[in-house]
Amino acid sequence: MSEQLAKELQLEEENAAFPEVVAVAEGPFITGENIDTSSDLMLAQMLQMEFDREYDAQLRREEKKINGDSKVSISFENYRKVHPYDSDSSEDEVDWQDTRHDPYRADKPTTTPRKGFIGKGKDITTKHDEVVCGRKNTARMENFAPEFQVGDGIGMDLKLSNQVFNALKQHAYSEERRSARLHEKKEHSTAEKAVDPKTRLLLYKMVNAGMLETITGCISTGKESVVFHAYGGNATEDKVIPPECAIKVFKTTLNEFKNRDKYIKDDYRFKDRFSKLNPRKIIRMWAEKEMHNLTRMQNAGIPCPQVVILKKHVLVMSFIGQDQVPAPKLKDVTLSSEDMKKAYYQILNMMQQLYKECNLVHADLSEYNMLWHDGKVWLIDVSQSVEPTHPHGLEFLFRDCKNVSQFFQKGGVAEALNERELFNAVSGLNITADNEVDFQAEIEALEKMNEDHVQNHGKKLSMFSSDGDPPIYDE
Ligand code: ADP
Ligand code: MN
Repeated sequence: MSEQLAKELQLEEENAAFPEVVAVAEGPFITGENIDTSSDLMLAQMLQMEFDREYDAQLRREEKKINGDSKVSISFENYRKVHPYDSDSSEDEVDWQDTRHDPYRADKPTTTPRKGFIGKGKDITTKHDEVVCGRKNTARMENFAPEFQVGDGIGMDLKLSNQVFNALKQHAYSEERRSARLHEKKEHSTAEKAVDPKTRLLLYKMVNAGMLETITGCISTGKESVVFHAYGGNATEDKVIPPECAIKVFKTTLNEFKNRDKYIKDDYRFKDRFSKLNPRKIIRMWAEKEMHNLTRMQNAGIPCPQVVILKKHVLVMSFIGQDQVPAPKLKDVTLSSEDMKKAYYQILNMMQQLYKECNLVHADLSEYNMLWHDGKVWLIDVSQSVEPTHPHGLEFLFRDCKNVSQFFQKGGVAEALNERELFNAVSGLNITADNEVDFQAEIEALEKMNEDHVQNHGKKLSMFSSDGDPPIYDE
């Protein structure tokens, strides 16, 4: 009796001592007012962002005042503050395909001929010419690490002497090494936390822009992504924000993604880009892929999250669930045998739609990536989905079929097709092998045949696009 009393007293004491701690832990993750300020750098960046925004607003007012109704107007565009983290422009998300003119790159490379000089008599210019050399040095600054701010030397026709250039080069290299060390430290120190400072800033910006109301907390921490719940903010002119959103942050710690290469490397939609990209951009590509795939599914009417916005490696979509509670995964929900049967036929239908209408194979379909909400199944997690003509697309489909068949056969759905029947029903192919090994072999043979066919005739003539319809290529 006295022990129990002592415990109660202690508990009371503890509660009195740490009330704020508890409140913070349960409070929202990011709101307009309450944000984590543990990182000085981030705090400084946020403040800078506010200042820059105010400054720009003031600039716009002045611009308007000066120009009035005049037909000829003066633009203050060049005086706007462009904060490195505040590039809200859509180019930001697609900078891997940025083809804008690069002022540092000469249109046609000019070389000094072998003999070492151009021109005649008094107008001779040698390769040691101060002006030519200086410009060349300025252009060579583009080889420095991207974080190394070199300014707009072209804009003012900057000419760097060899001495200055060499000193800068040295500095750039030591900065690069230092930043790599710092970066490593930061990565490790935030491994346990949900997101790194840059991502936090990105999330904060979404709240600050009014797109999201509050980011309440984390729903899931996976190996490759972290998912947050958020309340939607105000609708913009072109977009209605759902009342509740899910934010999928693709992890920028790179090593987790190594084993996913096979999904994207052979996907011709991304093939040309893949080789040219750095790892950070490849991770953005996963987010982009998920967005495109979700959009295709949405267009086909398959129940799935609706895309709200994509920013770098952060994908915002509608939340499947209610009042911050995510819909349960199919593996965690106990369905009546009637609902189980209903779910099975719905999935069969969705797999066919996905294949025929969206020209996609989920490639990670299982009871873990299907949610039960509103009396039906919702498909999620489609960043790894590929087109059926992907060199391993049919193998992925077969694996999906195995998962689905097993789950429903174990779940007591007598009507559930076995994995081979399901595969044929979804793909429209007619593989007759009656055991797994032969079936798998036939699948691989088909893939190989298709690869050769595609090699010879181009991707549009793939052999097993649905019903002879051309696959959907435009995004
Ligand atoms: P991962 O690659 O980490 O498996 P998922 O896309 O499957 O990423 O998301 C992980 C978990 O987050 C899901 O199992 C689900 O519980 C939850 N989740 C993801 N997206 C949503 C969403 N739009 N609505 C509700 N919950 C979601
Ligand atoms: Mn998942």
